[in-house]
Amino acid sequence: MKIEQTVSAAVAGLELGNTFALDDLLHTVQDRRHRRLRVVELADLDTHDGLCALWLSTDAEDVVLHARSDSALHRQQFVLHELAHMILGHGEGDGCAVGEVLLPNIPPYTRGRLLRRQDLDSETEIAAESLADRLAAGIRGSVFAESRYSEIFG
Ligand SMILES: [Zn+2]
Repeated sequence: MKIEQTVSAAVAGLELGNTFALDDLLHTVQDRRHRRLRVVELADLDTHDGLCALWLSTDAEDVVLHARSDSALHRQQFVLHELAHMILGHGEGDGCAVGEVLLPNIPPYTRGRLLRRQDLDSETEIAAESLADRLAAGIRGSVFAESRYSEIFG
């Protein structure tokens, strides 16, 4: 399947090996994009709105805003999903199920970019989620990711 191949190639291209720390991954992404990468928890983001995380791209840096979660794994998955979009070259910024209601929380200068990404095709999201799962498996130290693809989208 095309997505599987894309994701496998992306994982191999990171040259992180089978196991790595989240920090290693963050540094690799930052180095490749030649710009600062910040991960920020936004207490105001509520997962009940269906929002997991946002990737905001400004001229100077990439910012991953993620919702607060009591589960470290959950949080990590939010961040990995956004990193996956960056690694896969999915354009500037991602809003995963962004609701209009959240936009007041977003600095005005980033809103335009964010809005442009609202109309995401599902293949892009599936690929990002699939790569996020593979990265999570690498961080757990597993050689092979047990993809949740069929659970979510089957
Ligand atoms: Zn997404």
